[in-house]
Amino acid sequence: MSARPAAPAARSKEQVAGRRAPARTPSAEPARPLSVDAIHQRVWLAIVEHRLPPGTKLGEERLAKAFGVSRTQIRQVIERLAHDSIVTVHANRGAFVSSPTVEEAREVFVARRLIEPDLIRKAAAVASAADVKRLRDHVALESAARAANDKRSIIRLSGEFHQIVADVAGNRFLARTMRELEALTCLVISLYDAPNVPSCPYHEHSALTDAIEAGDGKRAGALMVEHLNHVEGTLEFRQASDEIDFDAVFA
Ligand SMILES: [Zn+2]
Repeated sequence: MSARPAAPAARSKEQVAGRRAPARTPSAEPARPLSVDAIHQRVWLAIVEHRLPPGTKLGEERLAKAFGVSRTQIRQVIERLAHDSIVTVHANRGAFVSSPTVEEAREVFVARRLIEPDLIRKAAAVASAADVKRLRDHVALESAARAANDKRSIIRLSGEFHQIVADVAGNRFLARTMRELEALTCLVISLYDAPNVPSCPYHEHSALTDAIEAGDGKRAGALMVEHLNHVEGTLEFRQASDEIDFDAVFA
């Protein structure tokens, strides 16, 4: 009994490090415990990249062990993620990665169509050469991720493109709202994406960047509406879990 306590924590930490980045050396990681900010960022990323899919239970104790911190800190992280809407806390059952319903998924796109054309019009009006370069570099990253078929990076980078547009537009409240809507979109894609259909056609990101560079807000706004319609159009909205097409599954 006395020899046991240290072992499970050490092992689970190693497992997490190994699963996250098998190529990196775990020993390069500092022993200092991570801050609430850093843990929030890591869990956020794991959710956005679908390493923690919708419906995953986020047990306080297991997370505390994985990060080598107290449950109080994990509770703070979960509170923040719940505030971001990507985690849902059920009384008595605990915290889970959110599973947006079909209605919620549609509402996410309604909200994005209201906000993003306006944001990109503003971005086209104010973008500097450095902003355009940032967008171009990002589109190049997306292109490389696609060439490598790196699905996790593709999903994350697609969302980040829209976040950069919001940053360039310069409205911090809308940028914050976009961050939440982007993360929810990643969950929606995880639940409702049709297999093998790219969710955010990156050549459209390239065309959006062209319109921003040309300072053509009207065109940028129109392209953004089209783009969001395309993204929503690739999704197969069905009630999760109850309408599985066995013919398709076993074809
Ligand atoms: Zn996009």
